[in-house]
Amino acid sequence: METSRIRIGVSSCLLGNSVRFDGGHKLDHWIVEVLGRHVEFVPVCPEAECGLGIPREAMHLAGDPVTPRLVTIRSGVDLTERMLDYSLRRVEELAHEDLCGFIFKSDSPSSGMERVKVYGAPGSSPLKRGVGLFARTFMERFPLIPVEEEGRLNDPNLRENFIESLFTLRRWRDFRAAPTAAGWIGFHAAHKYLLMSHSVPLLKALGKLVATPRKADLPVQLASYEVLLLTCLRTKPTVSRHVNVLQHLLGYFKNDISAKEKTELLEVISNYQAGFLPLIVPVTLLRHHARLYEKTYLLDQVYLDPHPVELALRNHV
Ligand code: SF4
Repeated sequence: METSRIRIGVSSCLLGNSVRFDGGHKLDHWIVEVLGRHVEFVPVCPEAECGLGIPREAMHLAGDPVTPRLVTIRSGVDLTERMLDYSLRRVEELAHEDLCGFIFKSDSPSSGMERVKVYGAPGSSPLKRGVGLFARTFMERFPLIPVEEEGRLNDPNLRENFIESLFTLRRWRDFRAAPTAAGWIGFHAAHKYLLMSHSVPLLKALGKLVATPRKADLPVQLASYEVLLLTCLRTKPTVSRHVNVLQHLLGYFKNDISAKEKTELLEVISNYQAGFLPLIVPVTLLRHHARLYEKTYLLDQVYLDPHPVELALRNHV
């Protein structure tokens, strides 16, 4: 399914921009060279953009891990208010950028999304419980937008889930640009098995919203659906949830395939479940059968084709 261009925010140093405190960068090759072919980046460097200069004195989080201060390490200057003022302004600008997600730089006192070191009394070990001040402001302003850190994206499951969420949110927003009741039903139907791989109860709740007689305005109902949709995408798929989906898909062929073909499909699904084959194998086989037996409903399922194949995201999950 085609989408319009996906825009995501990204910590600027990950794109190779020399904005770090020491004048360096943290170029992430996968983000720039692979993901960059499919999305448009909106770079953000909170520390440079709030006027701290390049290079600048290094800083860290200090004090209470829940509400830490941002403090320079050598001279002890407290930059908390400056960073929070900037962050509140910047997230309002970003609200107009149509972002489908954000990739944060890990461990940064400004940009880290989780487990950032917070320093306490001199001599004590830092606690890895902080959140960078800009990242926190962003996540409070956009609590359901998909977010990840570059380090976590090395995990194939988190990577696949993040990219799938970006593409799903883009398709949803494309639909919302010219919404109709029929288009909504079509969107939900096409995403049925993708949503099932995240959460059966949330899929059911979403289905109820689509099926509810139109008591309220369509925009109000769509807003409720969007909250639930993004909540569903944040529920990570598991092997057993995928197996459940694959078995449902297999059921569509019960009157078409031979006993040998059925055995082969069941074997592939069971080998995926056991960890001997990646998800791409049963999905490819099911897609092949859907084409062969002209199962239009299945061929419309985003689950069988959720993101560009060249990203190879399902080859490792
Ligand atoms: S981690 Fe954030 S604040 Fe630090 S250089 Fe990168 S983008 Fe700038």
